[in-house]
Amino acid sequence: MARRVALLGATGSIGRQTLEVLRGHREEFTLVSVAAARRLDELADIAREFAVTHIGVAREEDRAMMAGKLAGRADVVAGPAGLAQLAREADIVVNAVVGFAGLPVTLAALAAGKRLALANKESFIAAAPLVERVRATPGAEVVPLDSEHCAIHQCLAGSSAPGHPDVRALWLTASGGPFRGWTRDRLAEATRQDALHHPTWSMGPKITVDSSTLMNKGFEVLEASALFGIEVDRVKVVVHPQSIVHSMVEYVDGSLLAQLARPDMRLPIAYGLGYPERLADGWGALDLTQRLSLTFEPPDVEAFPAIPLAYAAARAGGAAAAWLSGANEVAVDAFLAGRLRWSEIVPVVATVMDGFVDGPMREVADVVAHDAAARDRAARAITVHS
Ligand code: NAD
Ligand code: MG
Repeated sequence: MARRVALLGATGSIGRQTLEVLRGHREEFTLVSVAAARRLDELADIAREFAVTHIGVAREEDRAMMAGKLAGRADVVAGPAGLAQLAREADIVVNAVVGFAGLPVTLAALAAGKRLALANKESFIAAAPLVERVRATPGAEVVPLDSEHCAIHQCLAGSSAPGHPDVRALWLTASGGPFRGWTRDRLAEATRQDALHHPTWSMGPKITVDSSTLMNKGFEVLEASALFGIEVDRVKVVVHPQSIVHSMVEYVDGSLLAQLARPDMRLPIAYGLGYPERLADGWGALDLTQRLSLTFEPPDVEAFPAIPLAYAAARAGGAAAAWLSGANEVAVDAFLAGRLRWSEIVPVVATVMDGFVDGPMREVADVVAHDAAARDRAARAITVHS
């Protein structure tokens, strides 16, 4: 029987690439629901192409318009509760929403015992203590789509003991982004256009900016630690500009296992859909008859303080990751809107983290409150910095 897939965040970079993978596997997977916040004409086209039965829109006021576009051929739901409903009604839930807005998808999919194919790292790290609880639901599993975590998931295949005592370190590779090698002085002049030009990956605007500050790598450190249950001091970052080695696991005997492919998100997406089987697509397959050079170097954490900031948040625990992600989302939005310089994004987040106040993280409302507190402080810090 074909597995039923919900694709939430269908019109974005991950969403579109997921559709490309699904087009090649119509027998194995049935797309039952899609959701998006913007580009609703495109969403309607996707719904028609795949004959989906359920559609989600972010805003209640778009619901009637979307229902009209589809002339009653699909049910339309709206808002976070709508996303959660769609996440409960599929076998595989692809969370391709960007930012904190992805939280209801992750929580609902896991609480309903589904496979979560996870791209949305922000809400996953922000709500890590709650996510941990719902992951215990029978049937619930997270298969990461983030290329680094997908690589580690593959390289950890033989290591099953809780806490992975046979693992010395997880090595997350980083391309270094468009500003690798730039000095602090030069970084002070970095523009929006510079930041949006990633050397190896083509992605949505928010993660492209996060990759330029290396905040994305900081989030990935938190993501890896939470995902694999490995304390953060065993998660390391190494710069690998070619983006061919997607990450590595170092075992206690000194063996280093790596996963290699050309940078192509359709490979981790196909892995997340097919796991534990492999789809015979070959996205990103390397041609080893051609010359290939791989280089590795330590990250410049002075020029890119987002990495130490993320480690500090990981060590602080509690709500610190929610603050880090919430503050960063506001700073990146301000940068994309032309209200904040690139060189002020991480300082704004650092200012918010300087005032971090921990508190309970038991209910969704707690996470939302922490996220809101960080956003509010970031908005105020931006008026000072800009
Ligand atoms: P994007 O901006 O291209 O797409 C985001 C999608 O989410 C869009 O379809 C948008 O309409 C939808 N969306 C936003 N808010 C929503 C809401 N409230 N309700 C419903 N839908 C909503 O982003 P992207 O680059 O595809 O990234 C998506 C996620 O995947 C991010 O968390 C990112 O960090 C992660 N990720 C992306 C890549 C990549 O290659 N693009 C790689 C690794 C991880
Ligand atoms: Mg990644």
